Formats: sequence, C-alpha cells, structure tokens
Amino acid sequence: MDNNLQETPLGNILVVDDTPENLRLLSTMLTQRGYVPRCVINGKMALRACNYNPPDLILLDIMMPQMNGYEVCQHLKLDAKTRDIPVIFISAKDEVFDKVNAFTVGGVDYISKPFQFEEVLARIESHLTLRKLQKQLKEQNILLQQEISSRLAVEEILHEKNQILQQEISSRCAVEKALQEQNLLLQKEIGNRQCAESALLKSYQELARSNAELEQFAYVASHDLQAPLATIASYAQLLEKRSKDQLDSQANKFIGNIVQGCTRMQTLIDDLLEYSRLGRSQKPFQPTDCHQVVERALANLQWVIRDTQAVVSCSELPVVNGDISQLVQLFQNLVGNAIKYRQDAPPVVSVSACKHQDHWLFSVSDNGIGIAPQHQERIFQIFQRLHTQKEYSGTGIGLAICQKIVQRHGGRIWVESEPSQGSTFHFTLNENTFDL
Ligand code: ADP
Repeated sequence: MDNNLQETPLGNILVVDDTPENLRLLSTMLTQRGYVPRCVINGKMALRACNYNPPDLILLDIMMPQMNGYEVCQHLKLDAKTRDIPVIFISAKDEVFDKVNAFTVGGVDYISKPFQFEEVLARIESHLTLRKLQKQLKEQNILLQQEISSRLAVEEILHEKNQILQQEISSRCAVEKALQEQNLLLQKEIGNRQCAESALLKSYQELARSNAELEQFAYVASHDLQAPLATIASYAQLLEKRSKDQLDSQANKFIGNIVQGCTRMQTLIDDLLEYSRLGRSQKPFQPTDCHQVVERALANLQWVIRDTQAVVSCSELPVVNGDISQLVQLFQNLVGNAIKYRQDAPPVVSVSACKHQDHWLFSVSDNGIGIAPQHQERIFQIFQRLHTQKEYSGTGIGLAICQKIVQRHGGRIWVESEPSQGSTFHFTLNENTFDL
C-alpha cells in the first residue's frame, strides 16, 4: 500500500458503482484532481480488486444487484488485508439510505447524489489524510512496541546480571570479612610472636652473657688455682724425697695421698681450662678432612690403644668446614671413652659417617659396658659421671666438651646404648658449617 501511495501521491481510489454514468463522472472528477481511480461495476469485482491490490480508499455504491454496498463493506472488514481501507458510501438521490447501518458495517462516511464535487473531494482528501496518519501511527506503534520489547529484554538481562553481581558482591563481602578476621588474628599472632621473640632474644642474650661470665670465671679460677697447686705438689714431692727416711710409714702414705690429690686436681684444672677455652677459640673454620682428623686423634691415643689391644676401624669420612683441633679433640674424647669404658674383651671401635640431606651423620660405636637409658642425656652435662674414680678415672668433662664442639659446628650429639651392649655416639655436622 505504501508503494501505491508513493506511485500515486494523491491516492489510489476504487470506485464501485453499477451505473456506468456515475462511474464515468466520478472517474473523470478524480483523474482531473490527480487521483488514480479504478472502476468496477459490482461487489464481487470490488472484493477481487481489493484483494489483488488494496486501494487507499473505496467509493462504494449501496444499491447494487447480487451484493449490495453494505455486504461488500462487511466482507472487506472481515479480511485483515482490507479491513483498514476507508469506505465512503455513495447513496442515490431517491434511495432510502440507512446511515446507521452504513457506519455499523464499517463505513467512515457517505456522500449523496447529486455529487457536490468539492464536497466529495474534500471528504476523500480528509479520509486519505486520516488513513495516512493512522498508518504512520500504526507503524510508529509497531516500532515502539519493538523498542519496548527489546528494552524489556535488555532490562531483564540487566536484572539477571544485577542479581549475579549482588550475589558476587555479597560473597566477596563475606570473603573480605573472613579475610579481615583472619588478618586480625594474624596481626595478633604476629604481635604475640614478636613479643615471644624479643623475650627469647633477651633471655638468649642473658644466657650468652652469663655463660661468658661463667667461662671467664672457670678460666680465671682454674688458671689461678694452678700456681698454688703446683706449689703444694712440689713441696709435697720435696718432703717425700728429703724426709722419706725420717717419717714413719703412715706419714709417708699421707704425703703420697697429697701428691695423688694434686695430680688429680691438676687433671681437673686442665680439663676445665680446656672446656672454658672452647668458647674463647676464635680460629676460623676451614675445609677439614675428617679422615685426617681421626688419624690425629688415634695417634694421640696410640699408647692406650696398644695397651688395651683395641681394634679401631674407620670408614670413608667426608671433608667438612670446621676447626681442626676441636674436631681432633671431639674424636679423641669419643674414641678414648669407647676404649676406657670397655668390658673384659679387647675394645672394638668403629668410626663411620653417612650423608643425610644437608648434613653428615657421624657415629662412633663400641662393644663396651653401655649406658642405661636414664643416664643417656645427663652424661653430656659437665661433671656428670656414672662411676667412681676407682672404677674408671675421669673428670666428667669430656662429653661436655664434645657437645660444645658439635654445637659450635651447628650440629647435635646423642647416644644410643644399652647396658652391656656397647654404645654408639652420634653427632651431626653440616656440609657447609659456618662458625657460630
Ligand atoms: P669422664 O669419662 O671423664 O667420666 P665424660 O664426660 O667423658 O667424662 O663421660 C661422662 C660419663 O659418660 C662417663 O663417666 C661414663 O659413665 C659415661 N660414658 C662416656 N662414654 C662412654 C662409653 N663409650 N661407654 C659407656 N659409658 C660412657
């Protein structure tokens, strides 16, 4: 229909009248005014013409044979294709014209014969304009509906997205809250740990200070005791030598006891000095071949090894970073004890080492008297002995020295043993030990 309007800007008009005279009259009038009229002479033809090419307006005669104008109009209004075409009824001069019926069946207007051309044209023009406006309105309405439904769809999507966003926001809020709580706990924990750390540091410093004081005291005391002890020992020996014949046997025994006591005290002082010197040693660590270390220790023990017929074996040993003289002392003390605390059979001692991740595990085992489990920790403390001097001589300082040396090298020392089943002393040394 749009096309028709564009082709015929003033409108395509169907004129339906069974009177040829009327048709001619109306057709001429319309053509003169620039319309494109199509003329048919009965209702059936009118319906066909409308179905084939719907006009913009119909001028419809009422009184026609077979199908009158009202019936034609009713048919047109039943079909969606033609329903909206405005119909103007033409009533004959003497006809009984039922205006109410004309509007009831869907007519928009009527004109009566004889025609007042200007009036006819004015009515046609106004209905065409009305029709055009209606069409525009309808099209705009459709566009508006489309716009509304697309906006509704967008709105729905937005609504869904909004809901997802809300859920996301609330779950994030929950996570944030949990994180804040965790953070608070963490802050608290950090604070506590910092407090504990500074307390630990303080007590460590205090311990280091009192250890240093103790070492200093032990060193000074032992050092200062040496001179008077040497005086007592030398005078006792002089007395023993010069007055042996003038004194009775009991007095000679007493002097012998004094000399013996002095010797033992000298050993104690020597060991104590050795122990206190460990903390003072400033020798830097250097790569040290442990095989060489053990060889030196065994050389120092050669007399006792020979006297006791001890068999000492040694597996392959690594090179570690350390203080060679302290490591010699360590092996010497352990192998010395392994021989000293022997049973009746000749001592069998073995020294070995194996790699454990970042450190070496050394072991010194023997077939000696063993150590009961309840004593296995305390023997590493200074002056802790499990035997009398008569049973086994000693000062109770050897293992304390071993522990101090191992700790200075960043390792730890312990024993595995059972009474009469021998003992194995283990200690660890890091591959790259730095002086502590
Ligand atoms: P000391 O040998 O001078 O008594 P140590 O500190 O070397 O001092 O040893 C402490 C104690 O540990 C010893 O008195 C001894 O009872 C026990 N002990 C050490 N080594 C062994 C060993 N290889 N077998 C059995 N007992 C041992």
